[in-house]
Amino acid sequence: MKPKLIIVLALIVITPLAIVGWLGVRIVRSDQALVEHGFRELILGQLRAVDGGLARALEGHAAAVVGEMTPFATDRETLRRRGRESPYVLQYFVTDGDGRFVFPPVGRPHDLTTAERRALERTRQVWDGGALAGVSGETEGRSSLDSASTGWHAWYWGNGLQLLLWARDGERLHVAEINRARLVADLVGALPETDGLSPELAAGRIRFVDAAGRVMYEWGAFEPGDDAVAVASLALQQPLGAWSLEYFAAEDVFGSSVAGGLVLNLLAGLAMLAAAIIGLTYYFYREQSREMREAAQRVSFVNQVSHELKTPLTNIRMYAELLEQDLGDRDEPAERHLGVIVGESQRLSRLIGNVLSFGRKQRGVLTLNHKPGVVDDVLRSVLDHFGPALETREIQVSFQPSAGGAVSLDPDAVEQIVGNLISNVEKYGAGGKRLELISRQTGDSVEIVVADHGPGLPSRERRRIFEPFYRVSNSLTEGVGGTGIGLAISRELARLHGGDLRLEPTERGARFLVTLHCPRLPNGA
Ligand code: ADP
Repeated sequence: MKPKLIIVLALIVITPLAIVGWLGVRIVRSDQALVEHGFRELILGQLRAVDGGLARALEGHAAAVVGEMTPFATDRETLRRRGRESPYVLQYFVTDGDGRFVFPPVGRPHDLTTAERRALERTRQVWDGGALAGVSGETEGRSSLDSASTGWHAWYWGNGLQLLLWARDGERLHVAEINRARLVADLVGALPETDGLSPELAAGRIRFVDAAGRVMYEWGAFEPGDDAVAVASLALQQPLGAWSLEYFAAEDVFGSSVAGGLVLNLLAGLAMLAAAIIGLTYYFYREQSREMREAAQRVSFVNQVSHELKTPLTNIRMYAELLEQDLGDRDEPAERHLGVIVGESQRLSRLIGNVLSFGRKQRGVLTLNHKPGVVDDVLRSVLDHFGPALETREIQVSFQPSAGGAVSLDPDAVEQIVGNLISNVEKYGAGGKRLELISRQTGDSVEIVVADHGPGLPSRERRRIFEPFYRVSNSLTEGVGGTGIGLAISRELARLHGGDLRLEPTERGARFLVTLHCPRLPNGA
């Protein structure tokens, strides 16, 4: 197999595979993105459920604190006792309608306990900023846990988020500083056990994280590495918005099951496509080779037949020409008949010459046989052969010979080239009634022009007429015999002769220009 053919076949197989593979990878990627998005949404939904549980636990916590606060007390003893006994509250505060402290006794600093002083220090920014001023004294007091009369206030101090729970009692505001450690413990206690989690959450790891990113609690089967990035993360509902739930999972949690399956499918599809394309390519290659073999056999058969015809035909031609000479002017009808035999046998010889040259070209053995000669002599001899035929068609010949120098050339090749061109004039350009044959010689190069005044050639056909077996399909070629190899062989012979054969632009008819490289001989004219 030729390397060029191997490359073409490889391209036929690789190109569609590459295109389908590229499309497949894109589909797998977008599918994977969809799957990831869907998975993340699923996880977020499940984290929201966990967050809902935490919100309920916080409500329970608030209810417990309010339960401890009521009935509302303002006297120091009760408030201090409640503060000491409460597991939920670090410190109670009570302010009046103007925001002044009723408790702890800020107005009498000597009565403040150390714990109260510290609590005031911790919560200073809350009071200084007047953060709770807006919630006091708006409505008549209600003692139950109600959104209008109780609420949370978050602030940052020490190790992060801190919470205050306020409850309004008429003008007064009762505020409890929440014990954060207890709150976190309660919230953690409210988190569902691994068994109670959805399978997706249970397979991963959930982290309960504070505002600074510190893990307060974590659980789940998966062990994330140090540099693991959360697959999904959800901020808790207010007032715990600074805290979040983060979900970690193995990297291939959605990659392996879904995209892995897609990749496998893609690979299997590509393998099948490759097998189908290779099979088809092999089939077409075999068919093509068979057709080429058969075409080569046909050419070789035509070649052999032509070869067999050549010798008898040469004899017929030779004896007919001899007979023509012998007969002289004695018998006009016989002379005419002989002229037809000679003309037809010359036409057949040309055809066989072209077929044999074409066969040699196909086999790569078309060569020239150089000998001394004169271009104009060859042209004259060709014109002689065509004389009767051109006369019958009333074609006037204008011969302008200017290549009379002795040169080295292959006369048979030149005869074949010019013979084909004049034969075409006879076949297609006879309507113009004119044949111009011009020869020129400059140095070692010879130019021969064969022109007619016939209908010529449409410009789109100018290139194609030199292709083997190409015949213009129009009224000119209808019913006119031909094989379509004459011009192809003529051009090939001209090129072998160091020149070319071209169709020249002209106003009317067809004008072919043959250029040849014919080295002058030393004693040439
Ligand atoms: P063939 O004559 O056997 O068909 P050629 O290779 O000699 O093959 O010519 C190819 C085609 O070029 C012809 O079929 C014809 O249509 C066109 N052709 C050649 N010479 C002329 C011409 N002098 N005038 C018009 N058409 C021509």
